Amino acid sequence: MIRIITTCLLLTGFFACNTGNGETQQPEQPSNIIFLIGDGMGLSVVSTSYYFSDQPSPFDSFNHIGLINTSSATHKITDSAASGTALAAGKKTYNGAIGVDTSKTEIRNITEVVSDLGWNTGVVATSSVTHATPASFYAHVEQRGMEEKIAMQLLDSEIDFFAGGGKRFFNKRRDGKDLFSPAEEKGFFIDTTGLHTASVEADRKYGFVLAEGGMPAMLQGRGNFLPDATELAIEILSGNGNSFFLMVEGSQIDWAGHANDAEYLLAEMRDFEDAIRVALDFAQKNGNTLVVVSADHETGGATLSAASETMEDSEPNQLAITFSTGGHSATLIPVFAYGPGSDLFTGIYQNTEIFHRMVRSVGAEEGSSPENPEN
Ligand code: MG
Ligand code: ZN
Repeated sequence: MIRIITTCLLLTGFFACNTGNGETQQPEQPSNIIFLIGDGMGLSVVSTSYYFSDQPSPFDSFNHIGLINTSSATHKITDSAASGTALAAGKKTYNGAIGVDTSKTEIRNITEVVSDLGWNTGVVATSSVTHATPASFYAHVEQRGMEEKIAMQLLDSEIDFFAGGGKRFFNKRRDGKDLFSPAEEKGFFIDTTGLHTASVEADRKYGFVLAEGGMPAMLQGRGNFLPDATELAIEILSGNGNSFFLMVEGSQIDWAGHANDAEYLLAEMRDFEDAIRVALDFAQKNGNTLVVVSADHETGGATLSAASETMEDSEPNQLAITFSTGGHSATLIPVFAYGPGSDLFTGIYQNTEIFHRMVRSVGAEEGSSPENPEN
C-alpha cells in the first residue's frame, strides 16, 4: 500500500493515478486549459445537441456545470466585447470595451497571467482573429471596432498561436502597413492560405489568417476549419510538453442568432461540438487538462418550440427553433467543466468568475495591470 501511495505521489503531475479501488485520482491543478466559447450559445442552442444531432452529445462528458450572469457594467444585456473582457480578464466593463475597465485602464487577462508561468497561449475563432471575443484574450483597446489596432497588438502580445479570419486588418490597413512581414520578424510563421505547417518548431509562433473578414459560414463551405485549427493549436502549443492555454470560439453561432436563421445556427453549433470533441479527446488522453465550455451571452432569444402545424412538411411532435429578438438576451448561460479544477465551476455566479476560477485552478496570482500600460 505504501509503495502504491509513493508511486502515486511520484506520478502526480504527470499522469492520472489509479488508487487501486478503481477510482482514478486526478491531479487538482491543470497544466493546460482549453476554454471553448460558443458566442451567443444559450441553453436552447446547447439543447439542439440532444434534438438535432445524430451523434452522442459532447456535453454528456461534463460533470461540473454552472450558470453565469453575463450583464456588463453598463447594460443588463451585454455585447461580446464586455462579456469577452469579463471572461478573459475578470472585470465587468462597458459594452464595446476590449481588455479595459470602465475607466479605460488596461486589465490583465488570462493569457498574460499564464504566460508569466511559462505557458504557451493561443486563440482560434471563426470570425476575424481581431473580433471582440478573441481580442479580449490579448488586446486592450477602448472600442471593439479598432480591429487594425487590435491586429497590431496581437503580434506584440503573449499569443503564440492564432487562427481565424481578418486578413484585411493586417494588410489592407488605413495606415498602408502590411503587418505580415514584421510578424515574421517577430518570430511568427504566417500562412494566409490554409492550416499548413512545414514543421512544428519550439520557440516558433504561428498565425493562420484565412479570410478577409470572418471565415466563411459552415453552410458556405468552411469545412473542418474549427476542429482542425483546434487540433493544430493543441499540437503546437503542447510541443515539448509545454503547458498551454487555448481559447476556441464558435463565433458564428452568434451571427446565426442575429439573423434568426435556424439552419445556419444548427450548422455552426454542430461544428462547435466537433471542436469540443477535439478538446475532450486531448484532455481524456492527457489527464492534466481543464476544459471549460461556455458562452459570452445568448443571441436571438432562441427557443425549441413545437413546429407550427401550418408549416409545410410538418409532422406531429416536431421541434422548431424560434427566435424572440434579433439581438442578444440576458438569460443565464451554462458553464461546462471537465478535468482537474472542474469542480471550481459549479454554482451560479458572475461571468467574471470564470477568469478568477481559471486563475485559482492553476494556483497563479492574478497580478495587477500589465507591465507595459502604454501599449
Ligand atoms: Mg465573438
Ligand atoms: Zn452578437
